[in-house]
Amino acid sequence: MTQPTNTTTLIVSQAYSKCSACGGYALPAETTHDVNVSFGQPVRPGCGAQFTAITTDQDGYGVEAALRAMLTGLRPDLPIVEFGGHTV
Ligand SMILES: [Zn+2]
Repeated sequence: MTQPTNTTTLIVSQAYSKCSACGGYALPAETTHDVNVSFGQPVRPGCGAQFTAITTDQDGYGVEAALRAMLTGLRPDLPIVEFGGHTV
């Protein structure tokens, strides 16, 4: 694995996970954006940015405890940050 040169936020919704740096779909367990995925399958290389935080763009979740628990359960290593005006 190459040393990541930039960092990014992992954006998780009910339907997908995305990389905020390049907008490509990502596997939620990745520490860096190594692959772009389509329907859960790797399709091409990702941008290589390191995931340093996690958030969601799911409408209507806001500050719900269930969302925070989901994000923490998915990636306990990443801090939760705000996205698009949501206070997560
Ligand atoms: Zn990326």
